Amino acid sequence: MARSPNNIQAVRGMNDVLPDRTAPWQYLEQRLAMLAAAYGYREIRFPLVERTALFRRSIGEVTDIVEKEMYSFEDRNGESLTLRPEGTAGCVRACIEHGLLHQRQQRLWYLGPMFRHERPQKGRYRQFHQFGVEAFGLEGPDIDAELILMGARLWRELGLREIRLELNSLGSAAARAAYRAVLVEYLRDHEADLDEDSRRRLDSNPLRILDSKNPAMQSLIEAAPRLSDHLDPASADHFAGLCRHLDEAGVAYRVNPRLVRGLDYYSRTVFEWVTDRLGAQGTLCAGGRYDGLVAQLGGPQTPAIGFAIGLERLLGLMEVEAVAVPPRPLHAYLVALGERAALAAGPTAERLRDAVPGLRLQLHCGGGSFKSQFKRADRSGALVALVMGDEEAAAGRLGIKPLREEGEQVTLTRDEVAQRLRRLVAEDGIN
Ligand code: ATP
Ligand code: MG
Repeated sequence: MARSPNNIQAVRGMNDVLPDRTAPWQYLEQRLAMLAAAYGYREIRFPLVERTALFRRSIGEVTDIVEKEMYSFEDRNGESLTLRPEGTAGCVRACIEHGLLHQRQQRLWYLGPMFRHERPQKGRYRQFHQFGVEAFGLEGPDIDAELILMGARLWRELGLREIRLELNSLGSAAARAAYRAVLVEYLRDHEADLDEDSRRRLDSNPLRILDSKNPAMQSLIEAAPRLSDHLDPASADHFAGLCRHLDEAGVAYRVNPRLVRGLDYYSRTVFEWVTDRLGAQGTLCAGGRYDGLVAQLGGPQTPAIGFAIGLERLLGLMEVEAVAVPPRPLHAYLVALGERAALAAGPTAERLRDAVPGLRLQLHCGGGSFKSQFKRADRSGALVALVMGDEEAAAGRLGIKPLREEGEQVTLTRDEVAQRLRRLVAEDGIN
């Protein structure tokens, strides 16, 4: 639609979800809450805004997010604040601040908007949504496997087929540092073949070079020394343990030695669920272990692992794979003709809502002819129209007429109507 320049529009990369499009969101959000509950995870909610220092210290100074994607601003006190670009940092901050991690395990989940100043494109937005889970206080590979099984269950329950799992281990911080030195030496020997981005990262974040998508760099990366050959024995054991758990559970995976993830805080296990059906933005879910982060942010030494799913991408794949979202039409639309009926309609609607749990009933407001009211009833998508004239109002009765199938209008007592509506509610199976 053409807009005059005077009209204020949404910020680029930040999308409205219009009423016709909210059903898949609600469906997915409901499935995610049920998934978390099925594994004993409890919801945590934390602010959209945190102190900038939190993200700098956790995500890392030389990551894409901190270098160029954060929405940071000074508030009126001159303090630097940032719209959260991800959930882990805020979740860990909240857990430390409220003492949730002292000798305790926590299995938590969150869902909400995140903000990154990226170039908007399909599957990449400036406000997007993540569902994340974090497990604290568990160091064995069994919890790593649990997180992966949660993902596998979700894809299965949604009926998604074209998602695969990639896994890697980054080892301990010490092993990573040692590997980093070996890698930098190799890359320096081939400095002439590095692209500009990679040359810049050579000093700041060389592991990220392995993650480069530039085709010209691929043979160089393929021949680079592998992190898996430099793992510390404990991390190698942990990784082997995870693979055994996944084999036992029958979960297919591919070990991808070049999977490094963009955030600094990861150690040992990292994983991604990816699809080829969404073009370049094919990572639906990314996660990993971050055993050092809690202590680094001032909490007790606490092993931890988590993942985050990008909801826009997941909804995109659901669309591509034609996942059916159960419809939630109105059950009934109540029209009223006549002065007495118009007054009685509201209270009648209230009584029906009381009598029929789960009923979705819309009351016609604004008067109008019988014909125009019926037109609205039809357009509302409701399964039946309830019809009230002055006579019915006086007698405590109601007409009921099916709108989506053939059938005559019949006039019944209010209790009989409630009975029919109860049947409609039971049939749609959502409640
Ligand atoms: P990418 O490599 O695609 O930029 P990332 O490594 O920055 O992803 P994470 O920080 O691990 O992503 O976030 C986890 C998930 O959140 C991603 O796998 C993706 O599904 C989703 N996600 C990340 N950034 C965006 C964005 N700008 N728009 C939409 N979804 C996003
Ligand atoms: Mg990114």
